[in-house]
Amino acid sequence: MAVHLDLRFDRPHEECGIFGVFEHPEAANMAYLGLYALQHRGQECAGIATSDGQKMYFEKNRGYVADVFNEEILEKLKGDAAIGHVRYSTAGDTRRVNAQPFLIESHRGKIAVVHNGNLINAHHIRKNLNREGSIFISTSDTEVILHLIARSKQKTVEDAIIDALVQVRGAYSLVFLTDDKMIAVRDPRGFRPLSLGRLNNAWIVSSETCAFDLIYGDFVRDIAPGEMLIIEKGKAPLSLQPFPEKPPAFCIFEHIYFSRPDSIVFGKDVSEMRDRLGRKLAQEAPVDADYVVPIPDSGIFAALGYADEANIPFNLGLIRNHYVGRTFIEPEMSIRHFGVKVKLNAIRSIIEGKRIILIDDSIVRGVTSKKIVDMVRSAGAREVHMRITSPPYCDSCFYGIDTPIKEDLIASSKNVEEICRFLGADSLGYLTLKGMLGALGKESWCVACFTGKYPVDFQRDELAQLRLFEKNGAVAVGVVSLNG
Ligand code: AMP
Repeated sequence: MAVHLDLRFDRPHEECGIFGVFEHPEAANMAYLGLYALQHRGQECAGIATSDGQKMYFEKNRGYVADVFNEEILEKLKGDAAIGHVRYSTAGDTRRVNAQPFLIESHRGKIAVVHNGNLINAHHIRKNLNREGSIFISTSDTEVILHLIARSKQKTVEDAIIDALVQVRGAYSLVFLTDDKMIAVRDPRGFRPLSLGRLNNAWIVSSETCAFDLIYGDFVRDIAPGEMLIIEKGKAPLSLQPFPEKPPAFCIFEHIYFSRPDSIVFGKDVSEMRDRLGRKLAQEAPVDADYVVPIPDSGIFAALGYADEANIPFNLGLIRNHYVGRTFIEPEMSIRHFGVKVKLNAIRSIIEGKRIILIDDSIVRGVTSKKIVDMVRSAGAREVHMRITSPPYCDSCFYGIDTPIKEDLIASSKNVEEICRFLGADSLGYLTLKGMLGALGKESWCVACFTGKYPVDFQRDELAQLRLFEKNGAVAVGVVSLNG
């Protein structure tokens, strides 16, 4: 038998959604529904861990929430507390072992965790832990947190979690489940969202509030940047601020693209923010046309705003097939080649002979956008004007949004005119950074993907190393093979 312990470290970004429910008689079912509402945040793996106060139960696997769970499985997930996770990773590493929740049994008892975000120094910590004899079973940065908790000399789980988290840097929204507690934590800058809700007598936490709506829960408030919320039976949640305060850096891309428009994220209604971005874009990049057409779904609210502001009719000239995953985040390259046609179709009777303004949230590689412009032209458009509700996307995200390497971002090497030519559009207009920040109304955003200025200070060669990770996929920090 050959035992192969793979100690590679994941590429530094993955997209995720997390959910937790505490003191609910149908905890597993609530987590299942919560994850269903968060499916857009990750389609590769799904998992739930539950606790009945004595034992923990879990199920995780590759696939959509609806594929991973069925009634029989949910029935086996006993207890009145549950945490859940949906994940997408570009690691090229789609193994089940990287699915969350992660669960450990340490001298402190059982601890399960779900994580949304990315730690920028996890590879350094992992390397050191490896040298000291730690054995990792996954390639995910989240496992590093569990190792640090297990090794902490602190007495309580809460203190051990704090002890672990002061050693990591980057983005983390986390929900831990122990035998008797649920603990939610957000990193000091609050990169990724995490909200608290109430469902009868139960407490619920979720990446996005749309999950509360689905289960008839009430949104209470956001968990604050740097806050740790300890939830125990029969008590009001205990709020701690255990970390040194940092200026907030909310991921602006959550509002531009990633979150669902029916969520309230960072205290702001996503659909309203997209409408505002569209209005601002109409002021900054006007063009005369017959119709404003959104690229569905993320462009819809922005296109409504643009159309209203520009006084040009809105029309649904592109129709989306909702029964396919998002092409951009399909792990298989072969799918992507015909993904746009699978996903979108143009309505000739609307488009033919018309001057069309296409509204989208962002251009990443430019590959999809080019195909959409082609599709609209093939449907007979007289002119195609592309308008984007964010500035040129020119740098990678290291805090939890899946982005290709910098070199593959079209705006990292081409200017607006060149991108326009590449797309084959008659004109191309982006929102300016100032316009975007003006529309969203606060200065506490992380805009690193548009500026290359990362809010977490990288130490020494850290940024260069992360870029190298990106290029090479996963980088080996040690591989052990035991043959016998
Ligand atoms: P492309 O033209 O290939 O750059 O693709 C642009 C499309 O990708 C836009 O419609 C965006 O809505 C979408 N997009 C942007 N960021 C992401 C992401 N992180 N995951 C999936 N799709 C994305």
